[in-house]
Amino acid sequence: MRVHALQTGTVLVKTRQREGVGRGPMRPLRTMLDREWTEPLPIHAFAIEHPEGVIVIDTGETARAAQPRYFPRWHPYFRLAVRVSVTPEQEIGPALRAVGIEPEDVRWVVLTHLHTDHAGGLAHFPRSEVLVSRTEHENASGFMGQLRGYLPQHWPDWFAPRMIDFPSEPFGPFPESVPLTDAGDVRIVATPGHTNGHVSVVLAEGDVLVFFAGDASYDQELMLREVVDGVAPDPAKARETLSRIHRFARDASLVYLPAHDPGAADRLAARATA
Ligand SMILES: [Zn+2]
Repeated sequence: MRVHALQTGTVLVKTRQREGVGRGPMRPLRTMLDREWTEPLPIHAFAIEHPEGVIVIDTGETARAAQPRYFPRWHPYFRLAVRVSVTPEQEIGPALRAVGIEPEDVRWVVLTHLHTDHAGGLAHFPRSEVLVSRTEHENASGFMGQLRGYLPQHWPDWFAPRMIDFPSEPFGPFPESVPLTDAGDVRIVATPGHTNGHVSVVLAEGDVLVFFAGDASYDQELMLREVVDGVAPDPAKARETLSRIHRFARDASLVYLPAHDPGAADRLAARATA
């Protein structure tokens, strides 16, 4: 099956966002006040050319993020702790066309979570079925959503995703998952931590499992070290999820693909396992 890594620009965050320090409310505070920035990290989305229809995982960031008032200035995170760079040609629509996929032909868009660098390209998919976890959608909506660092004010007018309610259908070390395809070879797995409603997507290609990790960790090495990021609302839950993914990577042949991992595209092309 053809699987594409699409890069929709880059993002800089604080080094303590990638690798959190401190406890309780000090943790996000120390992330925001950190003076050190990461190098520019890729903002990846992925596309699977599945026989049942094209599946897109995350939609990357929008070029509109460069406009002065796109990010609310009152919010300390956007003011202090994130810098994005995306041109219109780097948005997911053109990125898909560059690999021969028309956005109109995308059947499903699965959002690992609703942070702007994952939901920013939604406007390219008015005809696709968008899936998001109900917990994530509730946490991201309204003014409380804005306080938590989401930008629901920028969702397209037509945005009415199919909510994922997780039954307890275990998959490997994960207690909750749902199948996406009839063939059962693509599953959506609950991976709470970075956000409470965060999900990952797993594609089975024979013995190899391609794991689209969203922001479960910022790169593979951090997952193998089970390092919790500096913005997770529930670090204990995040640690538990990372340890499940790590166990999964030991037991199965896992190609692990976080959205901001500079090595993700090469590992996907080589099907290099963790
Ligand atoms: Zn995120």
